[in-house]
Amino acid sequence: MRVTTETERIAVLTLSSEIVRAAGAFLRDEGFLEILPVLLSPITDPLHHETYAGSVDFYGAPYQLMKSMIFHKQIALRTVPRIFCFSPNVRMEPPERAALGRYLAEFVQLDLEVRDASRDDVLALGEGLVVAVLKAVGERCPDELARLGRNLKIPSAPFVRIRYADAADRFGEPFDDALSASIDAPVWVIDFPRRVREFYDREDPGRPDVLLDMDLIYPEGYGEALSGGEREHELPRILDRLRRDGIPRERVSAYLTYVEKGVPRSAGFGIGVERLTRYVAGLDRIEDARLFPKIPGDTRAI
Ligand code: AMP
Ligand code: MG
Repeated sequence: MRVTTETERIAVLTLSSEIVRAAGAFLRDEGFLEILPVLLSPITDPLHHETYAGSVDFYGAPYQLMKSMIFHKQIALRTVPRIFCFSPNVRMEPPERAALGRYLAEFVQLDLEVRDASRDDVLALGEGLVVAVLKAVGERCPDELARLGRNLKIPSAPFVRIRYADAADRFGEPFDDALSASIDAPVWVIDFPRRVREFYDREDPGRPDVLLDMDLIYPEGYGEALSGGEREHELPRILDRLRRDGIPRERVSAYLTYVEKGVPRSAGFGIGVERLTRYVAGLDRIEDARLFPKIPGDTRAI
């Protein structure tokens, strides 16, 4: 549906607020510490797809608006073992992506990272988080869901897992839309090939070019919910990945100085808050999931 009335808008905002509350409560119960977001840094996620860089003149130095806090999460784990953050990201996505209804140029991801965790650990955590949020919304916001005509199903864990190669065989590439439209509960895609992901996703030591990572795909055609995985954390492996992925090490030199000092083994993920709100509320377009949306390419937004 599209949001057209103030009552519908209030219902969506109430759902979004409950999502943020329930997710934070779940993670605190799981022993996580919430850290405050970083907005500007000399280092941010290089991402695997092209976005226009948001650069700021920071006392004469080129700082970037955060595309994700991936490096800061890893560095934060030197201090605390389980962290999460509601992290605003600016990704000036290509304008043609606006038509897909699931991209904003400014969005918030709930970004988390766990020291000494494996992918299986964070898959279970992701399932617990999604189920807890959907249950909380169902219990605490039934009137808002009814106002939006949304009949939200609560999935049960564990969610089905599909290997990337199998999904690609079945649906072709890219397969997110077709896979998402074919399922009625969230599904994990695991084992992405190195060529489609960032250098910090850990390569399986036993299977070259296969990564120990994952995406969660929403049902009903809503597409990707979250991305994450185990991380590369040892300097020689990171340098090797940078070289093989064609990323100049100067681009992440501030991060490498921390890796030299030691960042712990970890796994984690980031889940987009507006995409989760869109799914929970059953919205056609992501710009209806928040106030002040920045649609890629549209410079009228405030
Ligand atoms: P990524 O690690 O790049 O997959 O980002 C983590 C999560 O943030 C994704 O799975 C989405 O839920 C969300 N996300 C990423 N890019 C955008 C965007 N341009 N607009 C809205 N949400 C996004
Ligand atoms: Mg992703």
